[in-house]
Amino acid sequence: MDHLDQLHHQAIVIDMHADTILRVLDEGEDLAAGAPGWHLDLNLMRQGGVDAQFFSIWADPYEYWGAAARDRAFALIGALDEQLEKHPSLMERAFSADDIRRIAASGKLAALMGVEGGHAINDDLDVLREFYQRGVRYMTLTHSRTTNWAGSSGDEIGRLTGLSAFGVEIVREMNRLGMMVDISHVSDQTFWDVLRIAEKPVIASHSGARSLSNHRRNMADDMIRAVAEVDGVVCVVFYPIFLDENYAAAARKVLYSLHQEADEIDRNLPPLAASYAKDRLQIAALQERVPPMSYTRLADHIEYIARLVGAKHVGLGSDYDGINCVPEGLETGASLPLLTAELARRGFKDDELEQILGGNVLRVMEAQ
Ligand SMILES: [Zn+2]
Repeated sequence: MDHLDQLHHQAIVIDMHADTILRVLDEGEDLAAGAPGWHLDLNLMRQGGVDAQFFSIWADPYEYWGAAARDRAFALIGALDEQLEKHPSLMERAFSADDIRRIAASGKLAALMGVEGGHAINDDLDVLREFYQRGVRYMTLTHSRTTNWAGSSGDEIGRLTGLSAFGVEIVREMNRLGMMVDISHVSDQTFWDVLRIAEKPVIASHSGARSLSNHRRNMADDMIRAVAEVDGVVCVVFYPIFLDENYAAAARKVLYSLHQEADEIDRNLPPLAASYAKDRLQIAALQERVPPMSYTRLADHIEYIARLVGAKHVGLGSDYDGINCVPEGLETGASLPLLTAELARRGFKDDELEQILGGNVLRVMEAQ
């Protein structure tokens, strides 16, 4: 094992965002063994040196809204609980940074949760508190659909709205509980509203840098600086469509060309089966018809943010198992050491690599 491999495997590596637990629940498969096409399972994580995984508790807002979104979130939490009961020698629930350190030292995976999309609380602070009790340690205020209390970057109305008075109350309650506020997916207006009132460091669980790739899901330089000023962390997403404008343009054409086939799937299958069938269709088409984006492009975003605000404010948020294309070279979590080597090649020092891989997230968790 060379020095960098050793550093990677000794460092506490934290992935801030992956959708794998949706696959466990919807496909009825096991997290230990995984299934064909998955980007992560317990083996792949071990190979990739992942010590802590934040599993996304995501209710698709166009499938689940209101009480249905809340119920879907609890079903996903239950699915992770079940996996934890089934595999006590392989994984353990973490509630805190200390838990992560202890579990990582024991050689198991530390499992954490982030709720992706505040619509899942169904406008009820008691649900938010219950999420926290069950182990949820961050919440992304919106997904791609604006709620009645926070604007999303994913729809027209959201881009003109920020936090409502109730939204302010929710952020304050999250700060009081010690649940990290995640601003990935929110509108710029919501972002600035959050930064004005947040009393704890905030996170972006899976976003890139807009200066390198102009996408609403990425962050402008002044936003990145604002996150750094409150000692937060921007965890960079692995999604080529966000990270590379050329890839995104080519992908847009391919995805558009699938419309008819997708409509047909929608007509013929129930919603959940249809959404997985459309995913498979998109994954195959993107793989066949779009020139891949190298994992070095991901390193570009990490390097850009580190040069802008320092390595203390960058992390990793793959979005594995929730994306229809992946960087070439990082097809699964097992290849993560490659990224560490690439960052070292660009001049990052050992302590900076440790910060980026997970140290920064630990610090932000401790400040909640
Ligand atoms: Zn997302």
